[in-house]
Amino acid sequence: MSANESSKVPIADAHSHINAVRGLSANEFAEAFRKANGWFVALVGVSPWDYGAMPPSLRDAYLKSVDIHVKTCSEMRSKGVSVACIDGFYPGDVDKLLSMGLKPSEVLNLGREVLQYELTLCRNGLLDGIGEVGRQHYKAMPLSLLVSELLMEEAIKAGSEEDCVIHLHLEDIGPDTVLLTHEVIKRLNVKPSSKIIFHHARPDMIPAASSLGYSATVFGRKEVLRAAVALKAWGFMVESDFPGVMLNGAVTPWSLAEVEVGLLRDSLATEEFLYKVNIDNIVKSYGVSPP
Ligand SMILES: [Zn+2]
Repeated sequence: MSANESSKVPIADAHSHINAVRGLSANEFAEAFRKANGWFVALVGVSPWDYGAMPPSLRDAYLKSVDIHVKTCSEMRSKGVSVACIDGFYPGDVDKLLSMGLKPSEVLNLGREVLQYELTLCRNGLLDGIGEVGRQHYKAMPLSLLVSELLMEEAIKAGSEEDCVIHLHLEDIGPDTVLLTHEVIKRLNVKPSSKIIFHHARPDMIPAASSLGYSATVFGRKEVLRAAVALKAWGFMVESDFPGVMLNGAVTPWSLAEVEVGLLRDSLATEEFLYKVNIDNIVKSYGVSPP
């Protein structure tokens, strides 16, 4: 199969950010992505300070950043890209807010208010999911980790009740990250679902997540995707985790096609495999119509 022929596979990005205030507009993003065969993107919001000037009240700043994100998602849809609009309370924000002088209980309350707002938008169909929520991927203070964990649990519990997608940002240890988080989810009386997504999963987390009924997204770098494909695990989606602004070395949603076509060219994957990863798994997790 020629690279040209194989590049017809529609490409999905299962986790990307967008920052239309400081980075690419929805129009620029959509144009570049569609040119590279992009059909679907899960767009995840960024933190208030990523947008620059914001209202002085942290609560207002967070709610405003959610509103900016929802507006950008609908602009992107109007450009012909299928979008899942996701916003949460980033675990790294917990540390940032503590370093700004807030008490752990104050960060917890702020996070709860933001999540409540996002859940209302989910219920009304303006958001499709909650994320990123979860734990820090680096060493964090015990209480910071606890605040993050409590917010994650609330998001999983309430988000599942609203049938929202949940993007989990975790520490990436390997299968134990999935197995122990599954224990938490069981305690919440939430059933495993393809709508609960282990974002930025290490390839060896994919079989653990799939066998329990969860989804996983894998970073779209060549070496990571090759490791995922080598496991012959089909239950994942590909993500760019593009920050929304052009940074040197960042994976972009429009670079995924080239990497994935490289898998075909080197006979590491079949076209059937790419359709499964880019369409079937996306339709199952996000509930969107196929292209
Ligand atoms: Zn992200």
